[in-house]
Amino acid sequence: VDRILDHAAAWHGTREIVSRDAAGAVSRTDYAALHRTAKQVSNALAAAGIVRGDRVATMGWNGARHLAAWYGATNMGAVLHTLNPRLFPEQIAYIARHAGDRILLADPACAGLIAPLLKEAPSIEQVIFLCGPQDMPEVPFAATDFDSWVAGQPAEYVWGGFDERLACGLCYTSGTTGNPKGVLYSHRSNFLHTLMTLQADALALTQRDSILLVVPMYHANAWGVVYSAPAAGAKLVLPGARMDGQSIFDQIEEEGVTFSAAVPTVWQGLLQHLRATGQTFSTLKRVVIGGSAPPESLIRAFQDDYGVEVIQGWGMTETSPLATLSSPTQEVLAQPYDEQVRRKGMQGRLVCGLELKLTDDEGNRLPHDGKSAGHLKIKGPTITSGYFGGEGGDVLDEEGFFDTGDVSTIDPSGYMQITDRAKDIVKSGGEWISSIEIENIATGHPAVAIAAVIGVAHPKWDERPILLVQPAPGTTCAKDELLAFLDGKIAKWWMPDDVVVVDAIPLGATGKIDKKLIRQQMADYRL
Ligand code: ATP
Ligand code: MG
Repeated sequence: VDRILDHAAAWHGTREIVSRDAAGAVSRTDYAALHRTAKQVSNALAAAGIVRGDRVATMGWNGARHLAAWYGATNMGAVLHTLNPRLFPEQIAYIARHAGDRILLADPACAGLIAPLLKEAPSIEQVIFLCGPQDMPEVPFAATDFDSWVAGQPAEYVWGGFDERLACGLCYTSGTTGNPKGVLYSHRSNFLHTLMTLQADALALTQRDSILLVVPMYHANAWGVVYSAPAAGAKLVLPGARMDGQSIFDQIEEEGVTFSAAVPTVWQGLLQHLRATGQTFSTLKRVVIGGSAPPESLIRAFQDDYGVEVIQGWGMTETSPLATLSSPTQEVLAQPYDEQVRRKGMQGRLVCGLELKLTDDEGNRLPHDGKSAGHLKIKGPTITSGYFGGEGGDVLDEEGFFDTGDVSTIDPSGYMQITDRAKDIVKSGGEWISSIEIENIATGHPAVAIAAVIGVAHPKWDERPILLVQPAPGTTCAKDELLAFLDGKIAKWWMPDDVVVVDAIPLGATGKIDKKLIRQQMADYRL
């Protein structure tokens, strides 16, 4: 993947990278300068004794030093491990130990997490803060600031001609359903993923784009953008930790942002802000919504109220991550508008180079008829073949497919629709009820900010769905009103047996609804 930054420096060297620090101060650099700093990082890592295959961790928000550390590590044969500071300290320690990180490059804002981490993860030999000497935090351990660390290092680094199958990255899953699992990315899979998603019928990013990287760089969904922005020669805007509606909107306007990607909850926050202030976008053209299923009301709001095209994306850490997109084909564009929106509410069709199949519980193939829901399995050069540390053993079936853990349908034109996670589907009387579908409809009610459906034990039906709702600010939700709202929009036997109004639906570190925690909180609930 070093060639991607070489390409950006050679052809798009003056394209800007805009970065905000924790205090909101803006700094500007470009791909040529990033290239030089990344090479200095490579040299600094080599001087620290880092060799091919060693894990180098970063922990921090989206910024230019973080990006230089990223490319500096991958470009000298190290494995870049992006560590999520929003996880619980025990989870961070578990992951750092599991990864065997040798060097940690961290945001000063994460300083408080590191002293306890160093006790738990003794493999970490050196800590570098992603800042200049003036912003060094006071810490009870030895640490260097990034600028001093790279100063004096040559801005050239001779690539050792590594095998393209060599690992260049390690990214852990979100931990939505259990312990986070480590996924290794190779130079080849990242390079292929970049080319596959840049295609004109996929993200179609070009040098005319200005990309706001809202997705935190520690999450798999950022991995795609980190490579595709320089490969396309697009301007890259890194928002630091500033991801609230107001800051995102201001950065979009100030930096002429044309494209961005984030999870539904982030976009919902932004639109709530816009509705409250009456502001509109002047440059934003397209957004990708992914990570979890967006409600149709969100797609409608972007497209109908703000003239911004929505593309839904589906993927997982294990698929590098983007694997399907709902960017419309010519065939879909020829359909009436409502049909186009319906297709955008689906997770979409495969990016070039991948293959899907659906199976029942026994592994028999199911038809792609848009009705049969089954276990979604995926194959291709960007799909992982196993987890770091060997957990779960060989995860591919005899045909080379990876089980995504998602349940979906696929229609005859190849559009995939996630029904649920296999672990979240409500099994009522031997039939499957999609928690996601009920959530999507419930979120269409104006008094609902976030909706979550879980299955609870039922003496007759094994499991029945109940609906938890977090009211939109300044509103109240009444149980009967919500049930009346759902009535007629879903099958009778899908109707939740109860509605529970809560102050806050818990969200995981990447903004997804944390059903594991909801189930724990509702452990004493009985129907
Ligand atoms: P873990 O595997 O640790 O339990 P996770 O699956 O949430 O956590 P990620 O790799 O970040 O970790 O997320 C991938 C999952 O996110 C997919 O398997 C799918 O369930 C969900 N997902 C991603 N995009 C979409 C989408 N557009 N619509 C619905 N679900 C999505
Ligand atoms: Mg997963």
